[in-house]
Amino acid sequence: MRTTVIGAGVIGLSCAYELAELGHTVTVIDAGAVGAAASAGNAGWITPFLSTPRAAPGAVRDAMRSFTSTEGPARMRPHPELGFADWITKFLRASTKERNRKSTAALQDFARGAHAHFDALLDRGVSFDQYTDGLAVVFKDKQNLRHYEQTVTTMRSLGYVGSVRVYRGEETRAFDPALHPDIAGALHLETERHVRPETLCQGLAKAIENNGGEVVEHDAVDRITERPVRQWSATTASGRTVVSDNIVVAAGFPTRTLLAPLGVKVPLEAAKGTSMTARGDGTAPSHPLKLYENMVACSPFGNAVRLSGTFDIGNRDYTVNHKRLDMVVRQGLSYLADWRPTNLEVEWVGHRPTSADDLPIIGPVPGHTGLYVATGHGTLGVTLGPVTGALAAREIARGETQPELEPFRLTRF
Ligand SMILES: Cc1cc2nc3c(=O)[nH]c(=O)nc-3n(C[C@H](O)[C@H](O)[C@H](O)COP(=O)(O)OP(=O)(O)OC[C@H]3O[C@@H](n4cnc5c(N)ncnc54)[C@H](O)[C@@H]3O)c2cc1C
Repeated sequence: MRTTVIGAGVIGLSCAYELAELGHTVTVIDAGAVGAAASAGNAGWITPFLSTPRAAPGAVRDAMRSFTSTEGPARMRPHPELGFADWITKFLRASTKERNRKSTAALQDFARGAHAHFDALLDRGVSFDQYTDGLAVVFKDKQNLRHYEQTVTTMRSLGYVGSVRVYRGEETRAFDPALHPDIAGALHLETERHVRPETLCQGLAKAIENNGGEVVEHDAVDRITERPVRQWSATTASGRTVVSDNIVVAAGFPTRTLLAPLGVKVPLEAAKGTSMTARGDGTAPSHPLKLYENMVACSPFGNAVRLSGTFDIGNRDYTVNHKRLDMVVRQGLSYLADWRPTNLEVEWVGHRPTSADDLPIIGPVPGHTGLYVATGHGTLGVTLGPVTGALAAREIARGETQPELEPFRLTRF
């Protein structure tokens, strides 16, 4: 069987790798370079604990506030397209207490095996940089820490099994000496992990090629066409036409525009984020840190540190907004004692493909045999990439419906 995968982000690559493992002849086509959209410069956390949807009570209030906010981590830029109004309406409907609890439970079930799927990749020879120091949520305000501790109880009730340790006051600096003396405490999720996401994407691309697949870069798919006798073709900007039995559309946020000409509506919006990666002077963190009050992520990668953040809904712009990036860096550094960036490696923007209930969209596209969609992973594409690839490949290659994917079907919209 031949399968074309559109999109060489972490989701498309994970699907393509697993399909190649199951014997499919795979062609991955990307408009840019492997991983270079949302999958390269992100924080790289593999975090079942933080696998919760953004569609939550308070989302309405936060969205309204964000119109006027300049310093907040989340902002909304209403888009004049009709699709945006539809997305926001659905998002607000998904933000009730009851819907949020259901969505959180679905995500927790899905994310529970995330670490095992990364182990399975390593066992099969996929090469990438993975760190197993856990992940710490760090607080400037002790009330916030106390309040957040209740989240552990909630996650436990949903089946979270990882070990969690709380540090308060002075002991927090003993835990990670990079932290500022004023930090009130930290909650260490001891069993979480992180990867350098660029290496994950490159490792998957290499493994696809080692399995006989092809990865085509810098050639955007302009058109997907359903052909007679259950075949599909993808036609690219350079004039290439790839014919296959199946097509997986994992094109991140542009998935919606790619599928629209087939009459398929995918309620997705871009949530723009940004990051800066640098080597520096001073004591670098030894754990990835979620800097709670400012929602900034800090990820140490060997000699380099990455600070990332912002969640700008509806912002489809691809340029680095230095005002927003400077804010992320300034806020991030305020949690650290003396580490300061000296040698900049990269400044980056990426758009989280965010569905109207902030749950992934994975499964066959109804009415189009052989067409499959895998997107909408929002803030969790790295965490959920390998599990998505493994389960999607079983559905596509073996025709075995995976019950774990039921909450994530396109038909729910
Ligand atoms: C600041 C930030 C921090 C984050 N941190 C984390 C984290 O710590 N942990 C975590 O789990 N997740 C994190 N995420 C989320 C994660 O980055 C995304 O969920 C994930 O990268 C989405 O992957 P994707 O493959 O769906 O999309 P993308 O990476 O965007 O890949 C889609 C690909 O499709 C290609 N494409 C689009 N249109 C076409 C076309 N017409 N033809 C061909 N190719 C096309 C694009 O070029 C792109 O390469 C973070 C995101 C941001 C922005």
